[in-house]
Amino acid sequence: MQHDEPIDPFHGDPTDPTAGLSDPEGDTYGELSTQERADLLADLAELEVYQVLLSPKGIRGLVVDCEDCREPHYFDWDLLRGNLRHLLDSGRPRVHEPAYDPDPDHYVTWEYARGYADAVDDMVEE
Ligand SMILES: [Zn+2]
Repeated sequence: MQHDEPIDPFHGDPTDPTAGLSDPEGDTYGELSTQERADLLADLAELEVYQVLLSPKGIRGLVVDCEDCREPHYFDWDLLRGNLRHLLDSGRPRVHEPAYDPDPDHYVTWEYARGYADAVDDMVEE
């Protein structure tokens, strides 16, 4: 399968929030493939950017449409980061722990966050 992932914005950056994860050699990561780990690290890096950009706007996290439950789950930033880290560390997802009694107004989709980050990126470059 061909993957076309965005380049990790923190690649080579000493402040990389994903740096310092235990065991960079990667032989304790369970069933995750190298590609899956790379995707998760990219998600974590993106999450960091989105939180910095969107938190000041009152956004508390992301909403994810759950294919299993067929309903949206709301994740606070910290919860989402914890889930991704857990998946990285254990190779097993921990997805069904959405935020308690969330206000949908305070959550956006990955797509929205990505679009927002891209727009900010463009403004900075111009
Ligand atoms: Zn679910």
